[in-house]
Amino acid sequence: MSTLEIKDLHVSIETEQGTKEILKGVTVTISSGEIHAVMGPNGSGKSTLASTIAGHPRYEVTSGSITLDGQDVLEMDPDERAQAGMFLAMQYPVEVPGVTMTNFLRTAKTAIDGEAPKLRTWTKEVREAMEKLKIDADFASRNVNEGFSGGEKKRVEILQLELFKPKFAVLDETDSGLDIDALRVVSEGVNRAQSENNMGTLLITHYTRILNYIKPDYVHVFVDGRVAEQGGPQLADELEENGYDRFLAAV
Ligand code: ADP
Ligand code: MG
Ligand code: MG
Repeated sequence: MSTLEIKDLHVSIETEQGTKEILKGVTVTISSGEIHAVMGPNGSGKSTLASTIAGHPRYEVTSGSITLDGQDVLEMDPDERAQAGMFLAMQYPVEVPGVTMTNFLRTAKTAIDGEAPKLRTWTKEVREAMEKLKIDADFASRNVNEGFSGGEKKRVEILQLELFKPKFAVLDETDSGLDIDALRVVSEGVNRAQSENNMGTLLITHYTRILNYIKPDYVHVFVDGRVAEQGGPQLADELEENGYDRFLAAV
């Protein structure tokens, strides 16, 4: 049983106009096996939260904390965060020219676990995970994300989730740009990782659509760099019905 604790997190960035505070005191606690949906309008700071958890250097934490089982995550570089069991999928996955999927996955798995996976079981595991996510076998020899469609990038992101078996995953708009089939396949992958590995998930989304497939235990409404309200899954239904107006009016 693990806990990822985000406490009163304040984050700023430097812009040409000066320092801008984007996160204004975010508190969220996620335990193993829990799915937390973070929902909010464009520009409310959702991706900033994801980038900060990932350790993106652009985002400066001015106060507050992020801890994983009491360990200070903010002191860790991005590699150490991955080794500690955190998986951070970005809204715009990067291309890695000249590196095949097979090599990338094996190198990353080795870095995360601190030892190389056994070749025979690993190859089988990769093949099976790709089949479950309906990723064509020829993707194994293609360069990471190079020329992948939006949906293919998302499937590959979830492939990593299944293979790396993180304790916690932060998924930023994993649903954006997916057709219904891809959405279903990707959601099933997240649900498998959650039930098989007891993964805790912070699922950032702009729309309620993905919540038809991934059932959150908690919903956090994010407005203007803060959690305006926390609730159960019924809060997502209310957002679907009424939008963010009630929360925006309070800002
Ligand atoms: P969301 O993901 O909820 O749409 P973001 O976290 O992307 O919101 O953005 C929150 C606010 O911070 C926006 O006003 C955005 O313009 C600003 N912001 C985030 N990152 C940067 C950046 N690197 N440079 C300038 N502004 C940024
Ligand atoms: Mg505060
Ligand atoms: Mg975003």
